[in-house]
Amino acid sequence: MTIDQDAATDVDVVVVGAGFAGLYLVQRCRQLGLRVRAIDAAGDVGGTWYWNRYPGARCDVPSIEYSYGWSDELQQEWRWSEVMSRQPEILEYLGHVADRFDLRRDITFGTRVRAATFDERSGAWVVETDAGEQITATFCVMATGCLSVPLEPDIPGQDLFEGELAHTGRYPHEGIDFTGKRVAVVGTGSSGVQTIPIVAAEAAHLHVFQRTPVYTLPVMNLELVEEADRYAKEHYEEIRRIQRESVAGLSMFGLPAGANTGLGGLVEGVPEDRILEATDEQLRAVLDEKGRGVIYAWADVRLDPEANELACELYRQAVRRIVDDPEVAEALCPADYPIGCKRQVLDSGYYETFNRDDVTLVDLRKTPLESITAHGIRTTEAEYDFDVVILATGFDAITGALDRIDIRGRRGVALRERWAAGPRTYLGLQSAGFPNLFFVTGPGSPSVLSNMIVSIEQHVEWISDCIADLRDRGVRTIEPDRDAEDRWVEHVNQVAEGTVQTSPSCSSWYLGANVPGKTRVFMPYLGGVGNYRKICDEVVTAGYEGFVLDHVDDDRACENAF
Ligand code: FAD
Ligand code: NAP
Repeated sequence: MTIDQDAATDVDVVVVGAGFAGLYLVQRCRQLGLRVRAIDAAGDVGGTWYWNRYPGARCDVPSIEYSYGWSDELQQEWRWSEVMSRQPEILEYLGHVADRFDLRRDITFGTRVRAATFDERSGAWVVETDAGEQITATFCVMATGCLSVPLEPDIPGQDLFEGELAHTGRYPHEGIDFTGKRVAVVGTGSSGVQTIPIVAAEAAHLHVFQRTPVYTLPVMNLELVEEADRYAKEHYEEIRRIQRESVAGLSMFGLPAGANTGLGGLVEGVPEDRILEATDEQLRAVLDEKGRGVIYAWADVRLDPEANELACELYRQAVRRIVDDPEVAEALCPADYPIGCKRQVLDSGYYETFNRDDVTLVDLRKTPLESITAHGIRTTEAEYDFDVVILATGFDAITGALDRIDIRGRRGVALRERWAAGPRTYLGLQSAGFPNLFFVTGPGSPSVLSNMIVSIEQHVEWISDCIADLRDRGVRTIEPDRDAEDRWVEHVNQVAEGTVQTSPSCSSWYLGANVPGKTRVFMPYLGGVGNYRKICDEVVTAGYEGFVLDHVDDDRACENAF
């Protein structure tokens, strides 16, 4: 049964995005008998993994965890080749999912959604695309991604550059041949750190333009051995359960210490010792044993600023041990923000790269970047010539994709105006005044603080179950009650207060601090994946507590408008 018996709308559910979230939404909606259509600006499925084709791109959690858990056949059939897979393999996996479940027939590619407007008279969403099409739907789900809008840095002269200029988040499909070329990489976050060693190995010379040094941990890019594959396939039920109940959507930390998953070592227990109580000899011994991994060897590092600074100093010592040139080592040492305030970066041979004769570090804190010129990059100190410039400058995260769609709710209110002082949602799922509009991994949910596939699955299931439930109960609209939304926003802020992620010295994209002019507010919910899921489920059990369920012309729903 479809929602709209008279089929006054084109579909029941329109989904914007065809990454991990959009694909599962299409599958779920179909299973629930809903008419669904997805739109993506990309040329095919994959989202993040369609766009981010830069050399070295791979996931930062084991692929066994960074994969769908909703189909046992799928997880039993699929064989990952590495512990943390590379972008081509993740994209191949998502292509396989699309083929296996025949998802592409409900997806329109190469089409951008420009606007989505709630029509109060009909109670439908009208979605407009850049192809000039208008699609009407009872529900609109934004599966637009938290890291899908590349941040074009405010560097003058980009149009003048006569060589090849690429952003890691819009990397050319045909790749770039660096052989014999002079290359620049601007940015040393996760994307830059993954790119740099690989480009260095190919290029004639690589210049790395660094503004803020990074805390990065070595990742072993291991082949996924038979034993690990078998372990996962035999334990998927338990792995997925632990993921769902965990803080970060990861099971390995929930497995008993000493368990051998075959992933290149035994599962380590959660540390209990306090760094502030350790003797100098103990500190040295742990540094010798763990190198940069020293930062996660103690329980108090994320909780106590003094403990954090001590761990930072040990980290810097570990960097100095790797990098030969003391001046370069010092420039690479992060010093003025705490460990744990940003998403952990992982690397393969990052610091070792700076020992190569054909790699030069440019410290933009000493010599700021002025402009891109026809032939390269100019800083306050020098002019450099390049054949290729790679911008690894990040994303307008979490709200960026929503902000670029003209979303209008009741009385024509624009979402971007409602969120001008920071995003406001109830449970990260909906915003008051925007009935039947849902966000996947929206602000106010654990989202980017987790293994995102677990958070995506939870949202997709909650949203699709809710839509089917409303259909079965004859409810036409759902939206948050304003008070419930206010309380949730306050709760999200309270949980974040005083944490390492919101410390004044932390300038992360979680806070929007990387985008000039963006309101500084901590966007994701730090309450943990498992707790958050419980809250969402309890809300449903209590009859969608905090939501207004009603017909479009109902008075209470209108009062909720802005
Ligand atoms: P996306 O994959 O971003 O898909 C959103 C889609 O929506 C895009 O294809 C986009 O084109 C489309 N879209 C947006 N706006 C519009 C519009 N107006 N009209 C039409 N289409 C639109 N997370 C982890 O948990 N672990 C990792 O290891 C990890 N690695 C990452 C590596 C990189 C390089 C990046 C950038 C992110 C990584 N992430 C990781 C986060 C990653 O974004 C998520 O894990 C996940 O892939 C997001 O899926 P999604 O479907 O929600 O969004
Ligand atoms: P990012 O973490 O925001 O890093 C951007 C880098 O570019 C920073 O070093 C930043 O410096 C620099 N930068 C930005 N604007 C600049 C300018 N105008 N001039 C000079 N430098 C500038 O972005 P990202 O590396 O793309 O990563 C974003 C997120 O995507 C990650 O945190 C992660 O969640 C996800 N990701 C994951 C992986 C993975 O390992 N699986 C890989 C890539 C991305 P400042 O810090 O000084 O601003």
